[in-house]
Amino acid sequence: MKIAIETPLEGFRNDIADVVRLFYGEGAAVTAQEAHDATLTHAHALEDGVWTERFAFSSQTNAQETTLRSEAATDSGLEEKRRLKRLIKRCCYQLMKEITGRRPAWGSLTGIRPTRLYYQQMERGSTRAQARAALETLFDLSSEKLELLDEIIDAQAGLVDRPANACDLYVGIPFCTTRCAYCSFSSGEIGDGRLVEPYLHALFHEIDLCAEMARDLRLDIRVGYIGGGTPSSLSTAQLDRLLTHLRSRFGGLQEWTVEAGRPDTLDREKLAMMKSHPVTRISINPQTMNDETLVRIGRMHTAQQTIDCYHLARELGFEDINMDVIAALPGEDYAMFAHTMDVIRDLNPDSLTVHTLAIKRASRLHEQRYEQQEEDAARMVALGRETAHAMGMRAYYLYRQKYMAQNLENVGYARPQRICRYNIDNMEETVSVLALGAGGISKCVMRQEEKILRAPNIANIEQYIARVDEMAARKRAVFAEKAKQLAREGE
Ligand code: SF4
Repeated sequence: MKIAIETPLEGFRNDIADVVRLFYGEGAAVTAQEAHDATLTHAHALEDGVWTERFAFSSQTNAQETTLRSEAATDSGLEEKRRLKRLIKRCCYQLMKEITGRRPAWGSLTGIRPTRLYYQQMERGSTRAQARAALETLFDLSSEKLELLDEIIDAQAGLVDRPANACDLYVGIPFCTTRCAYCSFSSGEIGDGRLVEPYLHALFHEIDLCAEMARDLRLDIRVGYIGGGTPSSLSTAQLDRLLTHLRSRFGGLQEWTVEAGRPDTLDREKLAMMKSHPVTRISINPQTMNDETLVRIGRMHTAQQTIDCYHLARELGFEDINMDVIAALPGEDYAMFAHTMDVIRDLNPDSLTVHTLAIKRASRLHEQRYEQQEEDAARMVALGRETAHAMGMRAYYLYRQKYMAQNLENVGYARPQRICRYNIDNMEETVSVLALGAGGISKCVMRQEEKILRAPNIANIEQYIARVDEMAARKRAVFAEKAKQLAREGE
C-alpha cells in the first residue's frame, strides 16, 4: 500500500512517514505527486493555547479520521518542537492503529534509544512507576517492551553516572576477510592487504596525537574498545603491534574489548598473543550456527569453527566472551534459530547480543532487493531473550535501527559481572568517546548544554591515511571546547 502524506507542517513530514512505515513497511510513505492507493491528510491548528492535530485517511474502501488536542508548550524552541512532534505522531499512530487493527510492540516509538525516554522522565522527577506509566500512555509501549526497558534500567543502575571528564576510547580496524550480505559499514575487504600497513602507520600517528591531547586536557580514559570491521583480520604480528602501541599510550585501562568477530581470523597463536595483553573481553560472533546460512550471508567460516574457537579461547584463559547472533537471517526459520540458541546455551558465553536483521540501503541484501522475512522475527527475538535468561544473563543495553524486521531491536545481555561499560556509554551517550581510525565518530558530551559535539573521522581508508592530522586536529578542537566548559564550571 502506498500512502500519500499531505501536511501543512513540512518539518514533520518525516516523522509522520516514520509512523506510516511502522504499519505499512518501507516504501509505503510517498508524496501526493507519486502514485498512491490512499491519502493521509494532516491538519494543524493552534487556538487559545491549545494544539489540535487531525489526521484523515481516505482510500477507495475506507475513510476514517482522528483528532488529538493538547495544551501548547509555553516554552519555545527545542522543547516546543519535541512536544508538538510527539502529539502529531501520537495522533497519526492512533489512526493507523484503528485502520489496521495492529499494535506494534514498540507502539509509536520510532527512535533508536528508548531507554533515553525512560531516563528523561526520571530526570523530570518521575518515580520508576510514573516513568513507566508515562511511556505507556505517550507511546503505547507493550508491557513486554516496558519489562525489557525496566530490566535494562536496573542493570545500568550505578553505571551511567560517570565523572564529567570520563571518556572512552574506540579504535576502528576497517577490514574484514569477506563482506557479509547485510553489512552496511564502510569496512573494506582486506583483499591482498596492501592498505593495512599504511593504515596502521596512520592510525599509530593518530593514537600518538590523541594520547597527547588526552593528557593535555586531562581526559579520564578507563574503557577501550577495538572494533571494526574485524580487528582480528590483522595478522598476529600486526595486532600485537597495535595492542602494544595502545598499551604504551593509554595504559591502565580497566576494560579492553577486542572484536574477534570471525572465527576464521583466529588461531591459537593470535588468541594467546591477545591474552598476553590486558584484553579483558573478546567477542566471537557466530551470527548463526547453521552452515547453509553462513554461506548464504557470505561468511566464510563454519559453525564448528566458531565452537572450536570458543573452546580454544576458554582454554587460553579468556573469562569474558561475548557472542553475537542475528534473528531473521535470510532463509532461516524459527527451528534454525532455535538450533543456534541450543548450541549457544551449551557453550555458555558470558554475554550474548541478539540482533534483529536490518536491511540497510548500503547492504548487498538491499541491492538484491531481498524481502525481509517478518513472520518469525518476534518469536526468535523472544527465544534469544529466554536463552539469555536461562544462562543467568540480563538485558543491559538496547538500540533500534531503521529497516529492522518487525521494527524490533538489538539487545545486549550479560551476567551482572560481565557487563561491558563501553556498550552502555556508547548507547546511552552519557560518556564522551574518543574514536580513532577510519569512520570513527568521536562524541563529546556537554552535560550543561545537554548537547553532544561530534568529530567524525573520514570513512574512506585512503582519505583517512592522507588526512589523519586533520582528523586529530578536529578532535582536539571539540574536546578543548569541553575542557573550557569544565574549567568554567570549576571556577
Ligand atoms: S564482519 Fe561486520 S563489518 Fe565485517 S563485513 Fe561482516 S558485518 Fe560488515
